[in-house]
Order: sequence, then structure tokens, then C-alpha cells
Amino acid sequence: MSTQHTDILCNEPGPAGRVTADAFATSALVFDQEGQPLAPCSAERAASLVQRGRAVLVSRNPLALRLTDLAATPSGIGGSAPTKRRRKKDKRIEQLKRRDGVDCFYCGRPLLDDFTIEHLLSQADGGNDKFANLAIVHQKCNHAAAHLPIVEKVKLRERLRILPTLSGIQ
Ligand SMILES: [Zn+2]
Repeated sequence: MSTQHTDILCNEPGPAGRVTADAFATSALVFDQEGQPLAPCSAERAASLVQRGRAVLVSRNPLALRLTDLAATPSGIGGSAPTKRRRKKDKRIEQLKRRDGVDCFYCGRPLLDDFTIEHLLSQADGGNDKFANLAIVHQKCNHAAAHLPIVEKVKLRERLRILPTLSGIQ
């Protein structure tokens, strides 16, 4: 009812993308600039978006529109950049697992969900994102290594591999 200028995507909390037959009659499908589907909005809102030049009509039946103004997309919704970055990271992790196995580079114990990519030569010291400089490690082990020089990291690795549990490090 109020004219919330930030609400141009009509993204209401709830399962985005679940469009019932009913919804087709009363709402419009919304896509972002890259063609990624967003939460549908009302036909009324769709008309308003098109009138204000914030979206273009791509289909009348079903009613569908595509947003035109990238800057108007609220962060966290529909943007494809985080997804791409995420996909790139997942791929990196798969490659590292193929190279090193599924255990932590530092402590040698199995990696569950709490792992991250470690820069062996830290970025602060000029370490880059190249494959050769990366390893997958527990978050906890990553914190333990922090910005240690690479020689200290090697020593840490030796220490961690003889500790009975991870509880000795923080
Ligand atoms: Zn570990």
C-alpha cells in the first residue's frame, strides 16, 4: 500500500519460484537483467515497473518482465555475481580434493563442512590465488595458521598431526 521505493522487486519472504496456476493469472514473472528468475510480483506492480522504465515486458501470457536497472536490484537478490563466485570456489575445492584428498592439509583429519581454502603463502605476504598456493583446511586450522610465515605453517602442520585432537588449538 505505501510506496516503498526499495520494494520494486516485490520479493516477499517465502518460496521464490514456486508459481502456482493461480499465480499466473494474478502475478507477473520477474527476471533480472541476466535472465535469472526472481520472486513473482503482482500484475499491477508489473505494469508500474514497465511504465517507470524499470522493466521491460517480455511476455504477455504468461505475464513476464525483465528488470532494466541493475543498480535498482537490492543486494542479495537475483544478482548473479555471488553465484558465479560461489561456483568458482566450489570448483576450486573439487580440484584441491582431487589433488590432496579429503583430509585437512594441516591436521590430516577428515574435512566435514567446516573447511575453507587456505593460502599457504598468505595474501598479506604476497601469496596469490594460484592452485599451487592453495590447500583445503578446517576453519579452525585456518585460524591457527592465520598469517604465520610459511616455515611456521609447516611446523604447525607437524604439531597438529601428532596432537590427539583438535582441542589443543584455538
Ligand atoms: Zn584441520
